[in-house]
Amino acid sequence: MTEAIHPFGPHFGFGLYVHWPYCARICPYCDFNVYAAKDRDPGLLVEAICADIRAHRARMPDHGALNSVYFGGGTPSLLAPAHVAEILETANDVFGLQPDAEITLEANPNDVMRADLPGLGAAGINRMSVGVQSLRDSALAFLGRDHDAEGAKASVQRAIRAFRSVSVDMIYARPGQAMDDWKLELEDLLWLGMPHVSLYELTIKEGTPFAMAVERGQIVPMTDDEQADLFEMTQTLLTDAGLPAYEVSNHARSAEHQSRHNLTYWNGGDWIGVGPGAHGRVTVNGNRYAYEAERRPEVYLANVQALGSGWGDALVLDKVGVARELLAMGLRPAGGINVSRIEAITGEPVPREKIAIFAEHGWVRLDGTQLSLTPAGRLLADALTAQLAP
Ligand code: SF4
Repeated sequence: MTEAIHPFGPHFGFGLYVHWPYCARICPYCDFNVYAAKDRDPGLLVEAICADIRAHRARMPDHGALNSVYFGGGTPSLLAPAHVAEILETANDVFGLQPDAEITLEANPNDVMRADLPGLGAAGINRMSVGVQSLRDSALAFLGRDHDAEGAKASVQRAIRAFRSVSVDMIYARPGQAMDDWKLELEDLLWLGMPHVSLYELTIKEGTPFAMAVERGQIVPMTDDEQADLFEMTQTLLTDAGLPAYEVSNHARSAEHQSRHNLTYWNGGDWIGVGPGAHGRVTVNGNRYAYEAERRPEVYLANVQALGSGWGDALVLDKVGVARELLAMGLRPAGGINVSRIEAITGEPVPREKIAIFAEHGWVRLDGTQLSLTPAGRLLADALTAQLAP
C-alpha cells in the first residue's frame, strides 16, 4: 500500500520570499508595502532579515533545502551585491539551497543599467525580473516611472546577457490604450527575446493617487469589455510568438523558464516570507500555517531585535480555508489542479454537476480529476472559483 501524498506542503515546492520595501520613488498606482528609500541604512534591515530566516528554521526543523528564493519589493535592485550575498548565505546555512535553485531579483531598468550584474550573479542571482511596465514614453510618464522606453530595452538586453533567465513585467489596459498600439508595443517587446513575460492589467487600487484621480474624473479606467478584448488579443499574439500563457498573467518560452517560485504559490507549496509585510504559508505536522510579518520597517526591525523574529503568531488555517486557497491558486496555472487534493482536505466532492455546466459553456476542462480553465474561462476565473469553492 502506498502512503497517501499530503495535498499541500513543501513537496509541492519550498521557497523563500524576501521583501525589500524601499523604492527610490513611489509610483501613483502602487499599493504594495513600500517606503521611500531616502537615506536609510540598508545594513540594519539586511541583518534583521537574516535573523528572521534563522527564527523560521526553529519551528520547521524538518523542511529540506529551498528550491527558490525571490527578492521582491519595493525595489530590491537597490540592494548591493554584498547584501544579497549575505541573505543568500544565511538561507543556505540555515535551510540549504538546492544546487539548481531558482534565485530571482526584481529590478528597475535604471538599476539594471548601473548595477554590478556580475557581482549579483556571483552572489547567487540567476534570474532577473525587469519592471519595464511599458515601451511607450507617454505611458511610462503616466505611470510615474523614472525610465524611458529606450533605457528599458537596453536594460532587458543587458540582463539577458548576464542571467540564465530573464522576465519582463508589463502593465496594459491603461486608460485610452488602443488595441493597435498595444499590439505594436508587444511586438517591440518580443524583439527583445526574453524567455518570460508577466502582463498585468492596470487595476486602480483604493487609497492610491490613481484612485483619487479617478474620483476627480481625471482618469477614466478602461471598461471590463475593453480589457477583455485586449486580454484575448494578447493571449493570441504571445502564443503565436512562442510564449504561451502557463498562468493567467504569465508567459514562458519553455517549462525551464516558468517561475518556479510562483509555481510554489499556485501549486500549494510552502514558502517563508521575510522582510516587512511579507506573507508566508508553511506546513508543520500536517497543519497549514499563515502569517504576515510586521508591515512597517521600523516595527519589523524592533521586533526582530526584541523578540528574535519579525512576525507575531502564525494562524492555523482551517480545512475550508486551505481548500479554498488551494482551489483559487491551483486554477491559475494552465495545467489546473487535481480536484482530488481539494476533496482529500474537505472530505466532500467538488461539485461535478457545476463543473459539467462550466465545461458545456467552454470555461473549464476536466480530464479525470484534473480541472483546468480554458482561455475563455480565465476571464471568469474569480467567479468560477467562487462557485466551486467549498
Ligand atoms: S517601483 Fe514598484 S514597488 Fe516601488 S512604488 Fe513603484 S510600483 Fe511600487
